[in-house]
Amino acid sequence: MKIRNNDKVMIISGKDKSKVGKVVKILKDKNKVLVEGLNKVKKHVKPNPYKQEQGGIQDKEAPVDVSNVKVICDACTNPTKVGYRFTEDGKKIRYCRKCDENF
Ligand SMILES: [Zn+2]
Repeated sequence: MKIRNNDKVMIISGKDKSKVGKVVKILKDKNKVLVEGLNKVKKHVKPNPYKQEQGGIQDKEAPVDVSNVKVICDACTNPTKVGYRFTEDGKKIRYCRKCDENF
């Protein structure tokens, strides 16, 4: 998985196409990510007296398949492909394939 928490990503398909948001959760086993404020679905919620929640319809983010998002590079602010390379001391780091900056 090349995407990490707090990465900025752009959704490249579906109703939120071209929208940008922050990754708030990674679902590794499903190969999906949760993007803050995007890919919202309506969810019916039953009233829960124990949590003092009212029933009704809530907007909730649904996970997006990683193949449908692109990471936005901090340096060049473009949606980009993430590459991997190793530093001199053997640390694996990510870099932007567009502008070559590490991030
Ligand atoms: Zn870049």
